[in-house]
Amino acid sequence: MSSTYHVRRIVSAPFAENTFVARFEGRDDCLIVDPGLEPEQIVAYVEREQLKPAMILNTHGHADHIAGNAEMKRLWPECPLVIGRGDAPKLSSAALNLSLGFGMPITSPPADRLLDEGDIVSAAGFEFKVAEIPGHSIGHIVFIARGAWPPFVFGGDVLFAGSTGRWDFPDGNREQLFHGIRTKLFTLPDETVVYPGHGQRTTTGAEKSNNPVLNGDYE
Ligand SMILES: [Zn+2]
Repeated sequence: MSSTYHVRRIVSAPFAENTFVARFEGRDDCLIVDPGLEPEQIVAYVEREQLKPAMILNTHGHADHIAGNAEMKRLWPECPLVIGRGDAPKLSSAALNLSLGFGMPITSPPADRLLDEGDIVSAAGFEFKVAEIPGHSIGHIVFIARGAWPPFVFGGDVLFAGSTGRWDFPDGNREQLFHGIRTKLFTLPDETVVYPGHGQRTTTGAEKSNNPVLNGDYE
């Protein structure tokens, strides 16, 4: 994977959730990560760029990250949908994926493959190692790119620029979240770009030294 890759961020209202469309220069297949509540934006981009989705990746099952799955599968039924094993129940349960609580019940088609710690996922020229980081959501996974430069991670709602994901959901746990960040993200090279589920991208190096939540400035 020596060629250049591109990651396009598409932000969905009302939770300012990030969907990413990733592809390698010179290829027309792509990945769609966490299709959110405004799938028409994703479709418009994919069609404008004449891309072929090769995989739909979900970092976790909260509604704002899976709301676009149904439209993606409707348009591209052959495109496999993957999610961490522990969050698969959230796809089919509006209560578990928290959309019921917001009064807009959302469900998703089932996943085509359930992922566990250490699994390898390959599509559109990318290869990722799966790491489980619970604490925001019990089955949350991150996708760590292998062989890409600069190195990068699709991190979902684990590590944000200057913050972390919430841990106050029913299956949340702050110790698990912080432990996962420190052992599975902060052990990556400092240049590793983190594409988070909300907000601007950051790097593991920047958050290791400056993240106020992890460094104990806030409780
Ligand atoms: Zn979430």
